[in-house]
Amino acid sequence: MTSQHHHAVMQGFTAFQSANMEILVVTDGDVPYNSDCFAPGIDRPELNSVRVQSSDYITLAHNILVISAPPHLVLIDAGNGYSSAPAAGCLPDNLKATGIDPADVTDIILTHAHPDHINGLIDEAGLFVFPNAEIHLQEAEYNFWQSVSPDFSKSKNLPKVLKQLHQDIRQVLAAIGPKLRLFNTSDPMFPFLRPILAPGHTPGHCMFAVTAGSETFIHMADICHDAEILFSRPEWGTIFDVDFDLAAQTRRRILGELADSQQLVFAYHLQWPGFGRIVRIGNEFKWVPGR
Ligand SMILES: [Zn+2]
Repeated sequence: MTSQHHHAVMQGFTAFQSANMEILVVTDGDVPYNSDCFAPGIDRPELNSVRVQSSDYITLAHNILVISAPPHLVLIDAGNGYSSAPAAGCLPDNLKATGIDPADVTDIILTHAHPDHINGLIDEAGLFVFPNAEIHLQEAEYNFWQSVSPDFSKSKNLPKVLKQLHQDIRQVLAAIGPKLRLFNTSDPMFPFLRPILAPGHTPGHCMFAVTAGSETFIHMADICHDAEILFSRPEWGTIFDVDFDLAAQTRRRILGELADSQQLVFAYHLQWPGFGRIVRIGNEFKWVPGR
């Protein structure tokens, strides 16, 4: 089976439009994950007590933010890539359905280097999916995955899974090397985009403040992977968190800040099109979807 054209093509969601800027969301597809990826060490009945449905799977969306601000055409993350078809890897087709040629993308900003964010950079033939784009990755994130033996001692994932993950990520980083530009969160990036370091999920995991007209919203990247468990119990975490405890601390701190600011939030993995706000209820948080 080829990787192309086996998924439903879907147009983008327009989140903001002005004379000189347009912000869209394009989906890379939905992927079901076993609920065992969430809350390692917590009994499943306890896990299911904070869920509406206690199915064995949790479906993760992959929402790609597209910022058109000529001469810049910016994507935040690049999706799962061809090997995840037909469920995901839909970004190139969905960009085209939205009227965007992948060759016109000037910049791809990576929130972090996990496969569901970077594998979409390279196609089945090993070529760049976005041939004219520079690829931006936070420096500490690059250094961590690029090192020969990264410290996985604070992760709750299996060593053999982490070893394979490390190899896979290094391979993509090597392939994108010629187009890679490293950034620090103190660097100015674009007038409409400011990186915010939110470490734990990975060492250089970044969120972004996006300014659209008079409004600034926060792309919270992988602070929360689902709309129930990690909002109710930020400390329960996922097996994907490289530093489990730091990820939990960062998650609780950011959720608190975003609830207090009542700011509009965009989330990579929450249900299409990924916009919503965060409400504080006692010691817990709640995701309220909506633009
Ligand atoms: Zn992710």
